[in-house]
Amino acid sequence: MTPEKLIEMAIQARKSAYAPYSGYRVGAALLTKSGKVYLGCNIENASYTPTVCGERVAVFKAVSEGEQEFEAIAVCGGNKEEIEGGFPPCGVCRQVLREFCNPDEFKVYLIEKGGAYKTVTLAELLPYGFGPDYMH
Ligand code: ZN
Repeated sequence: MTPEKLIEMAIQARKSAYAPYSGYRVGAALLTKSGKVYLGCNIENASYTPTVCGERVAVFKAVSEGEQEFEAIAVCGGNKEEIEGGFPPCGVCRQVLREFCNPDEFKVYLIEKGGAYKTVTLAELLPYGFGPDYMH
């Protein structure tokens, strides 16, 4: 699975976003170490609090189907039809990823305009992150 293919899948996933309130639509494609891909999009709610981000939808779908080892995630977001800038996952999603991913190895592809992307590690997005290794 190339980063480009994963990116294409995240862009497709964004089309399913349910964001009638903010208009900010997010797509995510999560690659497991076994080679499967789980897609996610943000899903808003009239009551606001139950709103969930696309990255967490992808992680929760994967975990609920028995996957707990991940290699990379591609993410994109924006309130226009075309993706404009590098969209970074929010703090809550970074923390959820930290639960399952090795911060130094897990890659996050931040999709930019025209399908370009920036690659960062989870450790770069969440330095000194609190994870399961502290719970032993
Ligand atoms: Zn988030």
